[in-house]
Amino acid sequence: MTADTAAAEAGRDFIRDIIQADLSSHKHREIVTRFPPEPNGYLHIGHAKSIALNFGIAQEFKGHCNLRFDDTNPTKEEQEYIDSIQADVRWLGYDWGKNLFYASDYFEQLYQWAEGLIRAGLAYVDDQSQEDIRLTRGTLTEPGRNSPFRDRTVAENLELFRRMRAGEFQNGARVLRARIDMASGNINLRDPVLYRILHAHHPRTGDTWSIYPSYDYAHGQSDAIEGITHSICTLEFEDHRPLYDWFIEKLPVPSRPRQYEFARLNLTYTVLSKRVLTQLVRDGHVAGWDDPRMPTIAGLRRRGVPPAAVREFVKRIGVAKANSVVDVGMLEFCIREELNRTALRRMAVLRPLKVVIENYPQGQSEELEAVNHPDDPSKGTRRIAFGRELYIEQDDFMENPPKKFFRLSPGNEVRLRYAYFIKCTNVVKNAAGEVVELRCTYDPATKGGNAPDGRKVKATMHWVSALQSRPAEIRIYNQLFAKPNPDASNFAADLNPQSLEILKDARVEPAIAESTASDPVQFERQGYFVRDPDSTPDKLVFNRTIGLRDTFAKEVGKG
Ligand code: ATP
Ligand code: MG
Repeated sequence: MTADTAAAEAGRDFIRDIIQADLSSHKHREIVTRFPPEPNGYLHIGHAKSIALNFGIAQEFKGHCNLRFDDTNPTKEEQEYIDSIQADVRWLGYDWGKNLFYASDYFEQLYQWAEGLIRAGLAYVDDQSQEDIRLTRGTLTEPGRNSPFRDRTVAENLELFRRMRAGEFQNGARVLRARIDMASGNINLRDPVLYRILHAHHPRTGDTWSIYPSYDYAHGQSDAIEGITHSICTLEFEDHRPLYDWFIEKLPVPSRPRQYEFARLNLTYTVLSKRVLTQLVRDGHVAGWDDPRMPTIAGLRRRGVPPAAVREFVKRIGVAKANSVVDVGMLEFCIREELNRTALRRMAVLRPLKVVIENYPQGQSEELEAVNHPDDPSKGTRRIAFGRELYIEQDDFMENPPKKFFRLSPGNEVRLRYAYFIKCTNVVKNAAGEVVELRCTYDPATKGGNAPDGRKVKATMHWVSALQSRPAEIRIYNQLFAKPNPDASNFAADLNPQSLEILKDARVEPAIAESTASDPVQFERQGYFVRDPDSTPDKLVFNRTIGLRDTFAKEVGKG
């Protein structure tokens, strides 16, 4: 995106309107945003919305966007997550340049400011238990009650806070709280906790700290230190904004960021909660964070979803102030659109049924030309081998077809894509009465797919050569959840038992096997597929990224 498009983008949503106004009024000269993940899990498609918004705005308005790890809770955070988050943001196509930060870099500054609040009588050490703090906080209709420790002297508070830092007390023994107003109508202002005691090893600061700042305390001040102009977060933080502003007002911070809230992304058939996603992984419901059924960026990537499709999806859903649930079909639409445009066409047979062309000479074979993309001649052509023995798809044949079945059946003629017309003459069955092989004849005059006498067939089918094709395992994914609105508090009950189907005996044309590219391809009439990292030279594995829509209807209409 170039800056020239900024004008066009400016009116896209209310946040861009605010930013445009702030630039026009010279409130800000440069726009600085940030994406602030907590490294306690892998990123999911909801995060992609936030990433595209923050990095997108920075690009469009010629500012910059920081990647800041909100690493304030060492008991849940890991280096693996820090690494995966960076890889995922890059994969989505965004670049933070030199602007990589960690909230933990500010721990000393945050601590000093907290002492400042104590000196100003705006913070105190509370010896109450977590439970008592919760019980005395009040409710939406009742005010809270003051802590018996609220009126400690500055000297006593300073001494206790320093001893908290020095590690003299047990986890949970004391906290530092802001001294605001226990009767405030906004519960977030009822003396919120700024620091808790936590004897835990931190991935970056090691054992230096035995107290850690709360999200509310660390977040806005980190924004201020980095000169963030627009701190964009999701709606659940709207009620925290008065507290965000309170800190900025009371502390000698170097800049005055403002917080703006937008609606988080919710998707049908999907749970976007790191807690649930973590549990899916830990309990073995999926193969890992990058299981292609996961709504994680890593899962989407492994599934073959192109980053451009994710960016387009996020653009289409827009940014609004009211929560809503987006139909997962919208994401699928964007994936199909992108892959339809970019993916090379190939042939693969997922559930093979052997075909012997009886009038094709034994031992002979030939090469036929096939286009790589029907709408894009620049993608070229390839040669595919045709011979006496082929595979077609099991469900492209019916021995006793219903009226509208135009594919192969005894006596019926069909076209094999890029090859010939064939007709089924005989059906071979095993002892159990199952069809195991078809005997067919071909018409040599129909080479390339058309009959010189002008006769028509109603179906065109994909196929592969029995001799030249390679075996492959194909993994077909369906929605991880069976319900459009899975219950996050009891998600296991809503899991789809049919979310993964493995086809072990598929056959793919050699061009698929030989390619080392990691781009998805279209298996004609089947969908889009991508090579899985589980593939070895002896065993190819493909993931279905997404199926084609209306396959049957399209075939019927083709003629
Ligand atoms: P969870 O609540 O699932 O644990 P989180 O929102 O706390 O996730 P963070 O790492 O704190 O995870 O999120 C980083 C940023 O991504 C935050 O600014 C957050 O608002 C944003 N974000 C998280 N989930 C979504 C979502 N579903 N849609 C849009 N933005 C999101
Ligand atoms: Mg969060």
